[in-house]
Amino acid sequence: MALIVKNGTVVTPDGVATTDILCENGKIAALGEIDQDRSDTVLDATGKFVLPGGIETHTHFDLEVMGMRTADDFLSGSKAALHGGTTTFLDFATQFRGETMKEGLANWHQRAKDGVYTDYGFHMALTEWNEALSDEMSAMIEAGITSFKLYQAYKGSLMVDDGEMLRALQRAAELGVTIGVHCENGDVIDVLVEQARQRGDVTPEFHERCRPPQLEAEAVNRFITLAELAGARHYVVHLSTGTGLDQVRWMRQHGARTVIETCPQYLFLDKACYERGDFYTKAGCVMSPPLRVAKDRQALWQGLADGTIDFVGTDHCSFKLYGQKDHGKDGFWNIPNGAPGVELRMNLLYSGGVASGLFSLNRLAELTSGNAARYFGLYPDKGAIEVDADADFCLIDPHAHWTVTHDMLHDRADYTPYEGQKMQGRISDVILGGQILIRDGEMIDDVPRGRYVKRGLPEYLD
Ligand SMILES: [Zn+2]
Repeated sequence: MALIVKNGTVVTPDGVATTDILCENGKIAALGEIDQDRSDTVLDATGKFVLPGGIETHTHFDLEVMGMRTADDFLSGSKAALHGGTTTFLDFATQFRGETMKEGLANWHQRAKDGVYTDYGFHMALTEWNEALSDEMSAMIEAGITSFKLYQAYKGSLMVDDGEMLRALQRAAELGVTIGVHCENGDVIDVLVEQARQRGDVTPEFHERCRPPQLEAEAVNRFITLAELAGARHYVVHLSTGTGLDQVRWMRQHGARTVIETCPQYLFLDKACYERGDFYTKAGCVMSPPLRVAKDRQALWQGLADGTIDFVGTDHCSFKLYGQKDHGKDGFWNIPNGAPGVELRMNLLYSGGVASGLFSLNRLAELTSGNAARYFGLYPDKGAIEVDADADFCLIDPHAHWTVTHDMLHDRADYTPYEGQKMQGRISDVILGGQILIRDGEMIDDVPRGRYVKRGLPEYLD
């Protein structure tokens, strides 16, 4: 089965060029002028931008938080991702306390049993550190998992202390894997939440006030300090503040090779979301780290444009407003943390980054697929439009103007925090392994044919 993508404006590692793409056996077979006779299936991409299929670095599908399961599982989450131009996502398999990594991994593979619409891989989140886990880390590399995650927040469930973090980083350095960390000071947050409870400050806006930006900046500095001491590859997960970004810049000036992920919510939304509307409007934006101020948004956009930030994942972790988020009506600490976003990632970044003139199409491709592919060991199969790579593409119609409403999305949440967002440019067609799955915004092939991808060791991005 061959496919020709004809006449698109194609984003390759060398630049942007109008060219055809021949796909055979799921791979890119040739670029350049392709004779139409070489395939029965031709997708006319005239006037459209053709990017590598998106690589989403941060999802939580089918995760249980505070006794509640996320609205999206692998099937609905990947369907939403695919509609938004993402063809590969990395979800956080989790080793809960007392479990082995192997058990955690088996639990996550089980979640994909009903099929997945995109390709996918796993990071492994660790909630403690001990000798047995240290021994197991090398088996994870064989299973295709080369990135791990630790939390400096969520004391009592997910958080590790500095000693555990250092030991994990030392082991990661031995093996050449990377560790991403959720950077917020969990000890301090616990104290602030307890004090808010005692004062009777129970409404959702106090979620943000108990997680001030300094607690991210401090945790970023502490994490990078330990990672550099251990000599480990490391990245900051979902960076949300300008002060956190300043910490990374400063540490880099002193030799650190820190990699940074941020998320669309920290670029498009801010804490005004906690200050207007009813409980549901506010609770829909309760996530950790919380939304910040306009100045932070501007700093992060600047970081995307100037190369400081490396890739964008969504932290898609969807709960319904009715029946889940409202569990915290009497106390913000009972609101399950997280929001949906996987479907809008590439559209938001095209609209806010490229259509607005802030950065180029090539930079968009780096931020949404290229850098993640290299850093998470998916390159050269994924992350670039070049011969022998997987034939995964996302086509953008640059002329579309539209407004986001939740009813046009494909996740199973009952809202989007981006409701009413005005957009320019739209993902029109999505191709996975040489198969057109989305055409003009409509799914034309409803078979979940995504595969689990084993990943190689991370590459440095500098
Ligand atoms: Zn997350």
